Amino acid sequence: MTSVADLVQRNKELAASHTPIPTFAEMAGLGMGPPKTAILTCVDGRCSPENFVGLKPRDALVIRNICGHLAPALADIAGLDAFIGFNEIMVVHHTDCGATHFTNEMLRDTLKKRLPEHEANVDAMTFGAITDIEQSVKDDVDLFKKSPLIRKELAEHTYGFVYDIKTGLLTPVEQ
Ligand SMILES: [Zn+2]
Repeated sequence: MTSVADLVQRNKELAASHTPIPTFAEMAGLGMGPPKTAILTCVDGRCSPENFVGLKPRDALVIRNICGHLAPALADIAGLDAFIGFNEIMVVHHTDCGATHFTNEMLRDTLKKRLPEHEANVDAMTFGAITDIEQSVKDDVDLFKKSPLIRKELAEHTYGFVYDIKTGLLTPVEQ
């Protein structure tokens, strides 16, 4: 088990050899624009862009939620696209995702026991449960293409992948 205290200790060790990261003003002075690629992926630490593409701070913006779904990330992606103007989006779901190990109903039942006075709110919640990883990527990329809140040009440059946590490979998912 890794606690917050453990992580804070690790930060102190890492900060000792930290290379300062440029501010927006410094980047502008160097003629460096913001990243134009976004990666939408799972919260799972086994599915980290730092691991699967060796992500560096200025390569891409990363948006993460359970499984890596568009619906809970819609405001972030639309808002950042308005601010930055993305060129491309990469949707990455992964093998053995926790979202294949629970159902939305299971989580609702647990929450309703904890929050009996908020049943109606809990009933309106979904938690990203899926049964098929490849289908899940297809469904999310399809949602990009159908969402009226995502720019058409960006939806056309949205690409889906499955990350295999055993081989380390990203496999493109054809629509
Ligand atoms: Zn996952």
